[in-house]
Amino acid sequence: MTRKKMMAGNWKMNKTIGEAVALAQDISNQYDDRWPDACDVVVCPPFVDLKPAKTVFEFDRVEISVGAQNVHWEESGAYTGEISVPMLKEIGCAYCIIGHSERRGYFGETNEDVNKKAKALIAGQIKPIICVGESLAVRDEGTTLEFVCAQVRAAFAGIDAGLAKECVVAYEPIWAIGTGRTATPEQAQEVCQAIRATLAEMYGTDIADAMRVLYGGSMNPGNVKLLIAQPDIDGGLIGGAALKAESFVQLIEACL
Ligand code: PEP
Repeated sequence: MTRKKMMAGNWKMNKTIGEAVALAQDISNQYDDRWPDACDVVVCPPFVDLKPAKTVFEFDRVEISVGAQNVHWEESGAYTGEISVPMLKEIGCAYCIIGHSERRGYFGETNEDVNKKAKALIAGQIKPIICVGESLAVRDEGTTLEFVCAQVRAAFAGIDAGLAKECVVAYEPIWAIGTGRTATPEQAQEVCQAIRATLAEMYGTDIADAMRVLYGGSMNPGNVKLLIAQPDIDGGLIGGAALKAESFVQLIEACL
């Protein structure tokens, strides 16, 4: 089974509108017609930058999607500070990151919240990028696979096979995020393979084989090739290296 690679840039809480437009334009200027066949390219800026970034890509007619970094599961109502699926939809978001370890760690996002967000996104035809990953304490305890696979089961609870297929899973070991410490290709492959095996238990091999599992955690132009050469790693969710067009483009071009 050949799965198309994906490179998704998570800009986190970086870039004002002006800066976001400049970065989107810089990526767009380096766009190559070979990209869409080899790799789905997604940028996930802060909410306020979504429309401006999308406008750059639309104007330039490049196949680069935008995604959000969070969403609320309710469609509307008294949820001060939150953003809903219909709002993202109207902007033209194709993807939304959910369950990022920073949201789980700093904002108390639970597995149940991730599951509700995944269901709301799927219902709104926005593809969830579901993040899972263990802390250093869990890794040192030797329970990484159990921990991560339980997060996967919880995120997909009650989601049927036809809809699960639309989701992307990102394995992001917390100890490798923003630390410069990357999981070795073997460590990343071991967990991504276990994630796919869990998806196969839930949905069967055909669906699991069609779903993309990304690696995230200090991926950069120097380590990307070996990581994406692993059989169960279908691309990257990129933080730091997505904030400069030069490095993000190198990651995309590693997929060509
Ligand atoms: C992330 O936060 O999703 C991430 C992978 O960050 P970094 O690439 O900076 O480790």
